[in-house]
Amino acid sequence: MIERIEILKTLKDNFTYALISEGRCAIVDPGEAAPVETFLAAEGLRLTHILCTHHHWDHVNGTPGLLQKFGAEVWCSEYDFSRVPGATKAVSDRVDLFGDEVEVLFVPGHTLGQIAYYLPRLKAVFPGDTLFSAGCGRLFEGTPEQMFTSMVRLRELPSDTRVFFGHEYTLNNLDFVEKNGAAALAEVQAYRESCKAKLAAGEPTSPSTIETEMRVNPFLNAATAERFAHWRELRNSW
Ligand code: ZN
Ligand code: FE
Repeated sequence: MIERIEILKTLKDNFTYALISEGRCAIVDPGEAAPVETFLAAEGLRLTHILCTHHHWDHVNGTPGLLQKFGAEVWCSEYDFSRVPGATKAVSDRVDLFGDEVEVLFVPGHTLGQIAYYLPRLKAVFPGDTLFSAGCGRLFEGTPEQMFTSMVRLRELPSDTRVFFGHEYTLNNLDFVEKNGAAALAEVQAYRESCKAKLAAGEPTSPSTIETEMRVNPFLNAATAERFAHWRELRNSW
Protein backbone atom coordinates (compact mmCIF):
# COMPACT_ATOMS: atom_id res chain seq x y z
CA MET A 1 0.00 0.00 0.00
CA ILE A 2 1.13 3.53 -0.71
CA GLU A 3 2.40 5.22 2.45
CA ARG A 4 2.98 8.78 1.30
CA ILE A 5 3.03 11.18 -1.60
CA GLU A 6 5.94 13.59 -2.01
CA ILE A 7 6.12 16.64 -4.26
CA LEU A 8 9.26 17.34 -6.31
CA LYS A 9 9.85 20.48 -8.33
CA THR A 10 11.28 20.02 -11.82
CA LEU A 11 12.13 22.36 -14.69
CA LYS A 12 10.81 25.90 -14.28
CA ASP A 13 7.40 25.27 -12.76
CA ASN A 14 6.57 21.57 -13.22
CA PHE A 15 5.42 19.29 -10.43
CA THR A 16 6.73 15.73 -10.34
CA TYR A 17 5.21 13.43 -7.74
CA ALA A 18 6.56 10.42 -5.85
CA LEU A 19 4.31 7.63 -4.54
CA ILE A 20 6.14 5.58 -1.94
CA SER A 21 5.58 2.08 -0.59
CA GLU A 22 8.00 -0.10 1.40
CA GLY A 23 11.16 1.35 -0.12
CA ARG A 24 9.71 1.41 -3.61
CA CYS A 25 8.82 4.51 -5.56
CA ALA A 26 6.55 5.39 -8.47
CA ILE A 27 7.21 8.74 -10.12
CA VAL A 28 4.47 10.73 -11.83
CA ASP A 29 5.61 12.95 -14.75
CA PRO A 30 9.41 13.17 -14.35
CA GLY A 31 10.11 16.52 -16.01
CA GLU A 32 13.80 16.02 -15.22
CA ALA A 33 15.92 13.05 -14.12
CA ALA A 34 18.41 14.74 -11.78
CA PRO A 35 16.02 15.94 -9.03
CA VAL A 36 14.34 12.52 -9.06
CA GLU A 37 17.67 10.71 -8.73
CA THR A 38 18.69 12.98 -5.87
CA PHE A 39 15.39 12.32 -4.13
CA LEU A 40 15.59 8.53 -4.59
CA ALA A 41 19.14 8.45 -3.21
CA ALA A 42 18.36 10.70 -0.24
CA GLU A 43 15.31 8.64 0.70
CA GLY A 44 16.88 5.25 -0.08
CA LEU A 45 14.11 4.35 -2.53
CA ARG A 46 14.04 2.01 -5.52
CA LEU A 47 12.33 3.34 -8.64
CA THR A 48 9.85 0.78 -9.99
CA HIS A 49 7.28 2.75 -12.00
CA ILE A 50 7.01 5.95 -14.04
CA LEU A 51 3.44 7.15 -14.54
CA CYS A 52 2.99 9.57 -17.44
CA THR A 53 -0.14 11.70 -17.75
CA HIS A 54 0.66 12.76 -21.32
CA HIS A 55 3.48 12.90 -23.83
CA HIS A 56 4.58 16.57 -23.58
CA TRP A 57 8.33 16.86 -23.13
CA ASP A 58 8.12 18.71 -19.80
CA HIS A 59 6.35 15.63 -18.34
CA VAL A 60 8.50 12.87 -19.87
CA ASN A 61 11.88 14.56 -20.29
CA GLY A 62 13.40 12.78 -17.28
CA THR A 63 12.29 9.29 -18.30
CA PRO A 64 15.20 8.26 -20.60
CA GLY A 65 17.80 9.31 -18.03
CA LEU A 66 16.03 7.43 -15.25
CA LEU A 67 15.68 4.31 -17.40
CA GLN A 68 19.41 4.35 -18.11
CA LYS A 69 20.06 3.90 -14.40
CA PHE A 70 17.00 2.01 -13.18
CA GLY A 71 14.65 -0.49 -14.73
CA ALA A 72 11.05 0.64 -14.38
CA GLU A 73 7.62 0.10 -15.83
CA VAL A 74 6.50 3.16 -17.78
CA TRP A 75 2.73 3.71 -17.90
CA CYS A 76 0.77 5.91 -20.28
CA SER A 77 -2.42 5.81 -22.32
CA GLU A 78 -2.82 3.56 -25.33
CA TYR A 79 -3.01 6.71 -27.48
CA ASP A 80 0.36 7.94 -26.19
CA PHE A 81 2.15 4.59 -26.25
CA SER A 82 4.22 5.41 -29.34
CA ARG A 83 5.09 8.94 -28.20
CA VAL A 84 6.08 8.43 -24.55
CA PRO A 85 9.77 7.44 -24.32
CA GLY A 86 10.31 3.98 -22.85
CA ALA A 87 6.60 3.18 -22.52
CA THR A 88 6.08 -0.40 -21.35
CA LYS A 89 2.39 -0.53 -20.47
CA ALA A 90 -0.73 1.13 -21.90
CA VAL A 91 -3.11 1.57 -18.96
CA SER A 92 -6.87 2.08 -18.80
CA ASP A 93 -9.74 1.42 -16.37
CA ARG A 94 -8.17 -0.02 -13.21
CA VAL A 95 -4.60 -0.96 -12.40
CA ASP A 96 -2.79 -2.01 -9.23
CA LEU A 97 0.08 0.02 -7.80
CA PHE A 98 1.77 -1.36 -4.66
CA GLY A 99 -1.52 -3.01 -3.65
CA ASP A 100 -3.54 0.18 -4.15
CA GLU A 101 -6.21 0.57 -6.77
CA VAL A 102 -5.52 3.20 -9.41
CA GLU A 103 -8.38 4.34 -11.62
CA VAL A 104 -7.18 5.60 -14.98
CA LEU A 105 -9.45 8.43 -16.13
CA PHE A 106 -9.35 9.30 -19.82
CA VAL A 107 -9.40 13.12 -19.84
CA PRO A 108 -8.53 14.35 -23.36
CA GLY A 109 -8.50 17.99 -24.44
CA HIS A 110 -5.05 19.36 -23.61
CA THR A 111 -3.80 16.42 -25.68
CA LEU A 112 -5.74 13.51 -27.16
CA GLY A 113 -3.94 10.90 -25.06
CA GLN A 114 -4.11 12.63 -21.69
CA ILE A 115 -5.05 10.50 -18.68
CA ALA A 116 -5.45 11.23 -14.95
CA TYR A 117 -4.48 8.76 -12.22
CA TYR A 118 -7.05 8.58 -9.41
CA LEU A 119 -6.28 6.76 -6.17
CA PRO A 120 -9.53 6.38 -4.20
CA ARG A 121 -8.00 5.18 -0.91
CA LEU A 122 -5.56 8.09 -0.86
CA LYS A 123 -8.22 10.55 -2.04
CA ALA A 124 -5.76 11.83 -4.63
CA VAL A 125 -5.88 12.55 -8.35
CA PHE A 126 -3.01 13.38 -10.70
CA PRO A 127 -4.52 15.17 -13.72
CA GLY A 128 -1.29 16.34 -15.39
CA ASP A 129 -2.10 19.40 -17.49
CA THR A 130 -5.84 18.79 -17.72
CA LEU A 131 -6.57 20.66 -14.49
CA PHE A 132 -4.51 23.30 -12.70
CA SER A 133 -5.47 25.21 -9.62
CA ALA A 134 -7.82 27.96 -10.87
CA GLY A 135 -7.04 26.95 -14.44
CA CYS A 136 -6.79 24.21 -17.03
CA GLY A 137 -4.43 23.22 -19.83
CA ARG A 138 -4.55 24.77 -23.28
CA LEU A 139 -6.35 22.86 -25.98
CA PHE A 140 -3.37 21.73 -28.06
CA GLU A 141 -5.06 18.71 -29.60
CA GLY A 142 -8.63 18.42 -28.37
CA THR A 143 -11.85 20.39 -28.66
CA PRO A 144 -13.62 22.46 -25.99
CA GLU A 145 -16.32 19.76 -25.89
CA GLN A 146 -13.75 17.05 -25.14
CA MET A 147 -12.12 19.16 -22.44
CA PHE A 148 -15.47 20.05 -20.90
CA THR A 149 -16.34 16.34 -20.72
CA SER A 150 -12.98 15.78 -19.00
CA MET A 151 -13.80 18.56 -16.49
CA VAL A 152 -17.12 16.87 -15.72
CA ARG A 153 -15.33 13.55 -15.17
CA LEU A 154 -12.98 15.19 -12.67
CA ARG A 155 -15.62 17.17 -10.80
CA GLU A 156 -17.61 13.98 -10.26
CA LEU A 157 -14.81 12.74 -7.98
CA PRO A 158 -15.46 13.09 -4.22
CA SER A 159 -15.13 16.75 -3.27
CA ASP A 160 -12.37 16.06 -0.74
CA THR A 161 -10.16 14.49 -3.41
CA ARG A 162 -6.75 16.17 -3.43
CA VAL A 163 -5.68 17.48 -6.82
CA PHE A 164 -1.96 17.08 -7.55
CA PHE A 165 -1.77 19.21 -10.69
CA GLY A 166 1.02 19.58 -13.25
CA HIS A 167 2.31 23.16 -12.94
CA GLU A 168 2.72 25.95 -10.40
CA TYR A 169 0.55 28.47 -12.25
CA THR A 170 -1.83 29.18 -9.39
CA LEU A 171 -1.29 32.90 -8.64
CA ASN A 172 -1.30 33.82 -12.33
CA ASN A 173 -4.48 31.80 -12.81
CA LEU A 174 -6.10 33.54 -9.85
CA ASP A 175 -5.28 36.92 -11.39
CA PHE A 176 -7.16 35.87 -14.52
CA VAL A 177 -10.12 34.60 -12.49
CA GLU A 178 -10.33 37.75 -10.40
CA LYS A 179 -9.90 40.27 -13.22
CA ASN A 180 -12.56 38.55 -15.31
CA GLY A 181 -15.00 38.05 -12.46
CA ALA A 182 -14.93 34.30 -13.13
CA ALA A 183 -15.54 33.33 -9.49
CA ALA A 184 -16.82 34.96 -6.29
CA LEU A 185 -14.34 37.67 -5.33
CA ALA A 186 -14.24 36.79 -1.61
CA GLU A 187 -13.49 33.14 -2.45
CA VAL A 188 -10.71 34.10 -4.85
CA GLN A 189 -9.11 36.52 -2.43
CA ALA A 190 -9.22 34.12 0.52
CA TYR A 191 -7.73 31.33 -1.59
CA ARG A 192 -5.04 33.65 -2.97
CA GLU A 193 -3.97 34.58 0.58
CA SER A 194 -3.62 30.92 1.55
CA CYS A 195 -1.60 30.22 -1.63
CA LYS A 196 0.66 33.23 -1.08
CA ALA A 197 1.36 32.06 2.46
CA LYS A 198 2.37 28.62 1.19
CA LEU A 199 4.64 30.08 -1.48
CA ALA A 200 6.22 32.49 0.99
CA ALA A 201 7.04 29.47 3.17
CA GLY A 202 8.69 27.77 0.20
CA GLU A 203 5.80 25.32 -0.20
CA PRO A 204 3.92 24.50 -3.40
CA THR A 205 0.25 25.39 -3.88
CA SER A 206 -0.28 21.74 -4.89
CA PRO A 207 -2.32 19.87 -3.84
CA SER A 208 -5.63 21.65 -4.09
CA THR A 209 -8.97 19.84 -3.71
CA ILE A 210 -11.94 19.33 -6.00
CA GLU A 211 -14.02 21.30 -3.48
CA THR A 212 -11.68 24.32 -3.63
CA GLU A 213 -11.46 24.17 -7.40
CA MET A 214 -15.25 24.08 -7.72
CA ARG A 215 -15.25 27.45 -5.91
CA VAL A 216 -12.41 29.21 -7.75
CA ASN A 217 -11.95 27.42 -11.07
CA PRO A 218 -14.33 28.58 -13.86
CA PHE A 219 -13.08 25.80 -16.14
CA LEU A 220 -13.89 22.99 -13.71
CA ASN A 221 -17.28 24.38 -12.70
CA ALA A 222 -18.45 25.59 -16.13
CA ALA A 223 -22.16 24.87 -16.55
CA THR A 224 -21.89 23.98 -20.24
CA ALA A 225 -19.30 23.29 -22.92
CA GLU A 226 -20.08 26.75 -24.32
CA ARG A 227 -19.28 28.40 -21.00
CA PHE A 228 -16.09 26.36 -20.79
CA ALA A 229 -15.11 27.47 -24.30
CA HIS A 230 -15.85 31.10 -23.39
CA TRP A 231 -13.42 31.06 -20.45
CA ARG A 232 -10.81 29.11 -22.38
CA GLU A 233 -10.86 31.63 -25.24
CA LEU A 234 -10.57 34.56 -22.85
CA ARG A 235 -7.68 32.85 -21.07
CA ASN A 236 -5.88 32.13 -24.36
CA SER A 237 -5.59 35.84 -25.12
CA TRP A 238 -5.06 37.00 -21.55
ZN1 ZN B 1 1.26 19.45 -21.33
FE1 FE C 1 3.07 20.67 -18.94
